Amino acid sequence: MTAEPGSIQIIVELLYLIASVLFILSLKWMSSPTTARHGIWAGEIGMVLAIGGTLLNHGMDYRLIAIALVLGTIIGIPLGRVAMTAVPQRTALSHAFGALCVTLVGSAEFYLRTPDISRFMMSVLSLEVILGGLTVTGSLMAAGKLQEILPQRPLTYKGQNLVNFVLLAGALVIAVSLVLHPEARTLFPFMILIALAFGVLLIIPIGGADMPTVISLLNGYAGLSAAAMGFVLNSKLLIIAGALDGSSGLILSIIMSKAMNRSFTNVLFGAFGQVQAAAAAGEEARPVRSATPEEAAAILSAANRVIVVPGYGMAVAQAQHKVRELYDGLTKRGVDVRFAIHPVAGRMPGHMNVLLAEADIPYDRLIEMDEINGDFPQTDVALVIGANDVTNPAARSDASSPIYGMPILDVDKAHTVMVIKRSMNPGFAGIDNPLYYLDNTLMLFGDAKAFVGSIVRELGGGHS
Ligand code: NDP
Repeated sequence: MTAEPGSIQIIVELLYLIASVLFILSLKWMSSPTTARHGIWAGEIGMVLAIGGTLLNHGMDYRLIAIALVLGTIIGIPLGRVAMTAVPQRTALSHAFGALCVTLVGSAEFYLRTPDISRFMMSVLSLEVILGGLTVTGSLMAAGKLQEILPQRPLTYKGQNLVNFVLLAGALVIAVSLVLHPEARTLFPFMILIALAFGVLLIIPIGGADMPTVISLLNGYAGLSAAAMGFVLNSKLLIIAGALDGSSGLILSIIMSKAMNRSFTNVLFGAFGQVQAAAAAGEEARPVRSATPEEAAAILSAANRVIVVPGYGMAVAQAQHKVRELYDGLTKRGVDVRFAIHPVAGRMPGHMNVLLAEADIPYDRLIEMDEINGDFPQTDVALVIGANDVTNPAARSDASSPIYGMPILDVDKAHTVMVIKRSMNPGFAGIDNPLYYLDNTLMLFGDAKAFVGSIVRELGGGHS
C-alpha cells in the first residue's frame, strides 16, 4: 500500500506542527524544577517527531542517512555518558557539531543555488554561515578551555577589539558583495574562513569565571544560525526551534552577565579578560587554621543557623547524598539549615540545583545569592563544600583580580566559616582565595564526600 504524496505531505506538516508545539512547551516546562522532567520528555519526543517527519519528507537517499545515523549514534552515546562535571564542555561540543552542520548545509545551498538566488536569501544564507562558522571554532575553543586542553587564562593583546572588528567587518563586506553579486562565488570560502578565525579570536580573551556566560552566548549564536538555515531551507520547524534556542541562549547570557556584573556589550564583543590575572608567583605560604570532622561536627551541632554553600567540588566528589544526610542530622537537632546558590557555582547553570534536587533536599531550602547574602552576618556557620571562586572576597575588594566585580556569596561575614576542600589549590579562575586566611575560617581538608560522611558519623555517634 502506498500513500499519496499529498497525504504524506500533510502527515509531515502535522508532525512538524506537533514537534514545534512540543519544543515550545519543553522550554516552558524546563523553567521550573517541578516540571523540568516533562520538559525534557517533550523536547525529546518533539525531536523524534521532527526527525521522523524529515525522513518521510522528500525522496531521500536512505542509505546515506542510515550511515549518518550509525556514525552519529557511535559518537553520541559516549558523549551522553560523560560525568555531570563535564557537561559544559560536552554542551560546547554539541554547539560546535550543530553549527558545523549549519555551515555545511549553508555552503551546499550556496553552491546549489547561486547565481540564481534572491538578495533576501543570500543575506540570510550569509548570516547563517557567518554565525555558524564562528560558533564552530568558538565552541571548540570553549570546550578546549573547559577541558583544560587549552590554557584557561584570558589571552589579551593590544588592539584586540580592533582586530576582531576588522575581521567581522571583512566578513560582512564579503556578505554584502555576494548579496549584490552572487556570481562572485570565489569570495564565499573567504567569508567562511574569516568567520572561523573570528570564532577563535572571540574566545581567546575569555577566561576564568566568564566562561559560563560565553557558553550560553554560543548557544544563542548556534540557535540563530539554525533559524537562518530554516529561512534558507524554508523550514518553519527549524525557524521555530532555532529562534527558541537562539533567544533562550541570548536571554540566559544576559541574565548571567548581569549576575556576574559584566556588561553584555563586553560579552558580545569578546572584551572579557581585559583585567589582567593577578600575579600568583612569589607568594609565600600563609598560615591557615584547620579542623577535624569531630571538631566540625561539634561546631555545627552547637549552631542555630547554618548556610551550606555547595560548589564544583561537591559535584566532583558526588557528595550530595551525604550532604542530604548532614542536612537531616542537623535539622533533627533543631538547626536551621539552608543552601546558598550562586548563579555560576559548579560548571553549568543550575548545576547545584540539579545535584541537590537529586538528593531530595527540599527545594524551598535552596536560596538564590541575592536573597541570602544579607543573612550571612546573622549566620553561625557558613559551611562551604567544594566551592571556591564563588566565595572569594577578592571579587569585592581587589581591582587587579580577574574576578573583580563578580558578585559573590558573602560567607566571610558569617560568625564561623568552614571550608571543605582537599588542598589549598585554586578553583576554576586559578586564583588564591583570601577567605582561607581569615581568623573566622577553618579549613576542613579532605574529599567532600568522605569529610561530610565523617561529620555525619560524628553527629550520629554523639547523640543517638
Ligand atoms: P571552583 O572551581 O572555584 O572551586 C572548586 C573547588 O572544589 C576547588 O578549589 C577544589 O579544591 C575543590 N574540589 C575539587 N574536587 C573536590 C573534592 N573531591 N572534594 C572537595 N573539594 C574538591 O568552584 P565554584 O563552584 O566555587 O565556582 C565555579 C567556577 O567555575 C566559577 O569560576 C565559574 O565562573 C566557573 N564556571 C562555571 C560554569 C557554570 O555555568 N556554573 C561553567 C564554566 C565555568 P581542591 O582541589 O583543593 O579540592
